Amino acid sequence: MTLIVQKFGGTSVGTLERIEAIADKLVAFQRRGDSLVAVVSAMSGETNRLLALAHEIHSQPNPRELDVLLSTGEQVTIALLSIAIEKRGIPARSYTGSQVYIRTDSAHNKARIQEIDAKRIHDDLRQGRIVVVAGFQGADEKGNITTLGRGGSDTTAVALTAALEAGECQIYTDVDGVYTTDPRVVPEARRLARLTYEEMLELASLGAKVLQIRAVEFASKHHVPLRVLSSFEKGEGTLITSEVEGMEEPLISGIAFNIDEAKLTILGVPDKPGVAYHILGPVADANIGVDMIIQNVGRDGTTDFTFTVHRNDYLKALEILRESASTLGAREVRGDDKIAKISVVGVGMRSHAGIASTMFHTLAQEGINIQTISTSEIKISVVIEEKYLELGVRALHSAFELEKAPSRISSSL
Ligand code: ADP
Ligand code: ASP
Ligand code: MG
Repeated sequence: MTLIVQKFGGTSVGTLERIEAIADKLVAFQRRGDSLVAVVSAMSGETNRLLALAHEIHSQPNPRELDVLLSTGEQVTIALLSIAIEKRGIPARSYTGSQVYIRTDSAHNKARIQEIDAKRIHDDLRQGRIVVVAGFQGADEKGNITTLGRGGSDTTAVALTAALEAGECQIYTDVDGVYTTDPRVVPEARRLARLTYEEMLELASLGAKVLQIRAVEFASKHHVPLRVLSSFEKGEGTLITSEVEGMEEPLISGIAFNIDEAKLTILGVPDKPGVAYHILGPVADANIGVDMIIQNVGRDGTTDFTFTVHRNDYLKALEILRESASTLGAREVRGDDKIAKISVVGVGMRSHAGIASTMFHTLAQEGINIQTISTSEIKISVVIEEKYLELGVRALHSAFELEKAPSRISSSL
């Protein structure tokens, strides 16, 4: 008997027909002799609907109350799925996060799972039940309902797989695996059979929202094999594990992108020790995370300084920067929230030069201006004007020949 944890995302449980189809799938696995724990998201669009309701009343709803509200989306689907399973003659039990004792810290809207008491689930499984757990939620020490951040059901599924010591965490979604880039943007994108945690982590962090970043972090830390599969079609999906001997190491595994950031520049700042601290200190004090940071070479005693923040923090950061500019005696502050970041990711990049120049050449040929560049061992990111995002992603996908299998590109590039 194998214990499997399967997670079904919003689209997969988006209608009653789909919920019934998931019930059919789970019952078939159960009849084959497997033990099953299903983690489900809210029906597609539901979390956004609930968020919008709260924002109609208040521009900054109390985070604790927001969690009480948002967690109801998943509570609906666990009950409906359990009812559908029982209709098929198999006993089922649904649990909210707090009922099954998914204990988190108290950081409302972005809580972290600290502990799971798997006993209750094991008891149910022993009695032949299919257990259905609400994704995306838990409770803190005091019993307050918490949620895990958008896309958090992925993390619930991974954490349960680790706690139950189940073999594999299967993430069922509306695509049949992880692709070389978002297939909605590049129809030629190719499904990847395998990926390392490291690559998936970069792709997710840089904008590929197919898996929540924390789910990948958790899986990597606890060695949980993750498989992304389609709820609607048969297939092997994409298996994400640690690097294994003999695993293909493509130069580029995929391209991620996002339009979540905004860029701020302070011009003509006196070039002296402490400038970066004086500019970024107040930004950090306001709890605003900074992504890319660039300081130009100083000239005539002054320098320019650019950084990017999440778009939600743009106006606040701009206000802070204007204040710093007047204290520092800087010449000007500029901001731009119509930017996009494109990143190419691949573990093979470590041992190969030339990826950056192919990337820059390709964008130049399309007439796309690069505003900032940042690199790490396995990724190169550029910021460009938002309107060129799709053009840039498509051009790079084709330049790196990612539509072709295997995804190794010729070393002449
Ligand atoms: P779920 O509701 O099942 O959690 P999500 O919408 O969170 O599903 O994630 C699936 C979506 O992720 C796909 O529909 C696809 O548009 C998007 N996506 C972005 N990048 C990728 C990628 N590299 N591979 C596959 N899907 C991707
Ligand atoms: N329902 C939540 C969201 O839309 C969690 C999830 O689907 O993973 O973000
Ligand atoms: Mg998701």
